[in-house]
Parts: sequence; C-alpha cells; structure tokens
Amino acid sequence: MNATGPDKRPSIVVASGQAWKGFLGLALLVVSCALFYWVVYDGRNMAAETSFGIMLLGGLTGLTGIVFPLAAIRCPHCGDRWFWRAANRQQPRGWLKWLADQPHCPACERTIDP
Ligand SMILES: [Zn+2]
Repeated sequence: MNATGPDKRPSIVVASGQAWKGFLGLALLVVSCALFYWVVYDGRNMAAETSFGIMLLGGLTGLTGIVFPLAAIRCPHCGDRWFWRAANRQQPRGWLKWLADQPHCPACERTIDP
C-alpha cells in the first residue's frame, strides 16, 4: 500500500512498519463489538455464565484493541509513543490525520526510513 502523494513521505507509522499494530487494534475492536452484539441479540438463549463470559471477553478484547496501539506504536529511535501522543495531545477529530501527516518523529524529529 502506498498512501503517499508525489512529494509526500509515507506516514511515520507506515514507514516504520507499524501500521499492522493499528489494524490489529481495529480488528480487536470489531471482534469486541461482535461479541457484545452476539450477547445483546442472542443472550436469552444462553446460560447466564455464558453470556457473562462473552461480555467479559468482549470487554477485554476491546480494551486490548485500544491499549495495544497506544502502547506499542513507538518511535524506533527514541521510543516515543506516537499513537498515545497523537490521541492525547491533538484535537479529537484530527489526531489520526495529524499522526499520518508527520514527516518525522514529533518527539526526536528523526526521519523514519521504510
Ligand atoms: Zn523519536
């Protein structure tokens, strides 16, 4: 996948080979939603322990889907947590685009070569 324009460097997340961590987090959130959806629409046919177990699994899966990218997407040079920095310090509507537009690490300013 090449998400760059003619004179634009790839996102630091893509260039550092860490995009999969974001996609894994997204996939875990989808699985989490599916588990909750399953209990909400089919929970009456389940034993209480079963529906509770699925809800617990859904909660843990969703939590992992949020925490993993926040903790694991880091600068290979200085270890700065890029996803955390973007989600924490940027506007709620624009943090992902801000992160995608960074030409170099926002903490140590070193470029990331693919
Ligand atoms: Zn850095």
